Amino acid sequence: MHELSVTQGLLKICLEEGKKHNIKRIKEINIKVGELTDLVPSCISYYFNIVAKDTIAENTKINIERIAVEIKCNECSYEGKLEKNSYFCPICNGNKYEITKGREFYLDTMEVE
Ligand SMILES: [Zn+2]
Repeated sequence: MHELSVTQGLLKICLEEGKKHNIKRIKEINIKVGELTDLVPSCISYYFNIVAKDTIAENTKINIERIAVEIKCNECSYEGKLEKNSYFCPICNGNKYEITKGREFYLDTMEVE
């Protein structure tokens, strides 16, 4: 499963940070997930609880913030969000654009003890 490997990577980052800063327990993590990723937030929480067992991140509360897709249009220079379920620029209806947001997946902040 894709989410499982991604979640293991996330845990690794958390544990490395924990080691670096001598953290006893990670209480809460805030992660950001772009809407263009095929990651399912509930799956991430589910797997995280499994892989984090017996670590300082056990029973961590996971807050997931979705990041909307944003583009920079090459035709009309529009910069901003795409309409939901649309693949065309909302101003000129073109499809020549660069995706500037929506592909990210990262650990934003964590609450620790
Ligand atoms: Zn446009």
